[in-house]
Amino acid sequence: MYGTIQVDLDGLWTYRRYFGQSQPGSAEVVDPVYAEGLMRFLELFKKYNVKATFFIVGKDAQQPEQRKLIARLVEAGHEIANHTMSHPQHFNLLSAEQVEDEISDCDKILQEIGTKAIAGFRAPGFSIQADTLSILREKGYMYDTSVIPSSLIPFIMNISHSILRRKPVCMGAGRIGFGFAPLDVYNPDQKRIWKKGDSLLFEVPVSVIPGLRLPLHSSYVFMFGKGYFRYGLKRLQKNNVSPCYLFHGIDLVDLEKQKVSIPFFKTLEKRLNVCEYIIKSFSKKYELLTTRQLVQTNGMGL
Ligand SMILES: [Zn+2]
Repeated sequence: MYGTIQVDLDGLWTYRRYFGQSQPGSAEVVDPVYAEGLMRFLELFKKYNVKATFFIVGKDAQQPEQRKLIARLVEAGHEIANHTMSHPQHFNLLSAEQVEDEISDCDKILQEIGTKAIAGFRAPGFSIQADTLSILREKGYMYDTSVIPSSLIPFIMNISHSILRRKPVCMGAGRIGFGFAPLDVYNPDQKRIWKKGDSLLFEVPVSVIPGLRLPLHSSYVFMFGKGYFRYGLKRLQKNNVSPCYLFHGIDLVDLEKQKVSIPFFKTLEKRLNVCEYIIKSFSKKYELLTTRQLVQTNGMGL
């Protein structure tokens, strides 16, 4: 059976912006998510023969050294996909023109680096609106992967982020309706993205634990431990769901060195151990393809 692993390569500046911290260094300095996180993920993927998909913020790809690193990952057979130009914190509140610009500007930069047309998109914070699907389709995109099929996400994210920032936070993270979305690749409805429909674009939902519909991505595994992951993996297998597992570049950055603190993110050594365990476990049970290949392999590619 096939599966896919994805990494959101949001630069450390997106986290610092979120926490209201100043940005040390200059544009010439390679972001630690690229210098450390990306490098460590590439090593693990090579070790376990994984072809993955990296979601890139256009602004990060403008930096010359980071651009070279992105070109290297493309050469290694991985896929690059669109994660907007500036990673807006409230992507769901943007106008159609702003959404179009965020997607087009990033697309243009990635096209210059990659060897193939860009096929996939993820909205920042899973905050996608239905109109975005038609914009992606018009641009010839093959898939979107912004749906996390859990009704709990808007609550979990708004409560945890309010605690984290010590003020009420209202984010457009996910939607309650996402809890009713299919767990495997599907064609969404043009208006209600969480329902099956006749859109020619494919939706690749991010893996949750079947049944409980709790998120399975690594922030939660860091929080609840390897047993949580093992349980999720078992449920995916039992339900014959192709995994779409989501990491973030920051998962493998030495945060102590960067003086950034994220709750439940333990030492780099411990996180590296958990991430390797996840990749190794998936590679034993599934053939891991890029997300584009997963969509094509299901006989659903364009
Ligand atoms: Zn992101």
